[in-house]
Amino acid sequence: MTTNPALERLGVTASPLAMLLLGRDADPGSERGVECPGDLPPAADPDLARRAAAAKAALGDDVFILGHHYQRDDVIAFADVTGDSFKLAQQAAARPAASAIVFCGVHFMAESADILTADHQRVILPDLAAGCSMADMATAEQVEQAWDDILDAGVATGTVPVSYMNSSAAIKAFTGRHGGTICTSSNAERALDWAFGERGGQRVIFLPDQHLGRNTAIDKLGMSEADCVVYDPRRPGGGLSRAQLRDARMILWRGHCSVHGRFTRECVDEVRERVPGVQVLVHPECRREVVSAADLVGSTEYIIKVVDEAPPGSSFAVGTELNLVQRLANRHPDKTIVFLDRTVCFCSTMNRIDMPHLVWALEALARGETVNRITVDPEVATYSRKALDQMLTLP
Ligand code: SF4
Repeated sequence: MTTNPALERLGVTASPLAMLLLGRDADPGSERGVECPGDLPPAADPDLARRAAAAKAALGDDVFILGHHYQRDDVIAFADVTGDSFKLAQQAAARPAASAIVFCGVHFMAESADILTADHQRVILPDLAAGCSMADMATAEQVEQAWDDILDAGVATGTVPVSYMNSSAAIKAFTGRHGGTICTSSNAERALDWAFGERGGQRVIFLPDQHLGRNTAIDKLGMSEADCVVYDPRRPGGGLSRAQLRDARMILWRGHCSVHGRFTRECVDEVRERVPGVQVLVHPECRREVVSAADLVGSTEYIIKVVDEAPPGSSFAVGTELNLVQRLANRHPDKTIVFLDRTVCFCSTMNRIDMPHLVWALEALARGETVNRITVDPEVATYSRKALDQMLTLP
């Protein structure tokens, strides 16, 4: 074990295994773009911040850097705007003067930015291996198979796809093709209200995060656990009978966030004993047992707002990605802010965007080269856009 005062202040213990290892059994050769062409500066280069600043200054208004809330502090320092995935994609679209958008986030976010930005704008992901384990849990092939199962059960007409922003462009396109909508963790309730109301759905297939779907259906729409079934793409027919598909109001995809899924009911009980008067504040991607035991539940933007607006002396145990929790603690030394888990847990794919990759991408742009451009197939982009536009019309 190593000692890290900043992490100890959050109530967590640093270990040599500082990041959650995702996809431990996966074939490493299947990872997208792990190698970067050209010279990647060494992480130990003391000149990285100066080089990033110089390249950014040389590019001027031609580059716009987006930083997701879960990014590291040294990368966030170079972001022109910070936010959640949808806010960032919208911000990119609102800056047509920037021909290069450097997205410090993960792959599905860069895809959304490419869909929403103009044709002359290039979206760059500094490390192509920055994927998302949740988004990868629903492939286009699996989702088409699930739709076939729903068709076989004779209930496709009354089934509306609602897909979380944290999904690939292919899943967003599936959603648009079948008259559904995208949602974020901020508007999932409104998306489900629309699907069951104006859209006239009898049931929703919710992709790919089962926890956000279940928590929203139960806590916001008053459904019960019995209204929800889980479609497991690794089992024939999703592991569900035709009657189960027909009777369900929510068909939840068996996907989850590997970071938020780590928090347990025991974490909640333990922190309440350890920090008297603490308020447990969690993201709705957490498991049902955690969300139902928490004091406050909401999106990343909501979590930031609650902590920012709380009076001095407030105490929070926050259940979301550790980079953000650490930043909130640093910003509010007059409040007690601890991490909900006792062990360190960063999102390993978000952390792939580091200073060497940022410098490498910016210096290439300054030389007139574009590296790691993310482009979405035009037909996929058209249907994805339809589902995204549907979300924008939600009341
Ligand atoms: S925090 Fe979870 S949902 Fe977000 S990028 Fe990481 S794995 Fe994906």
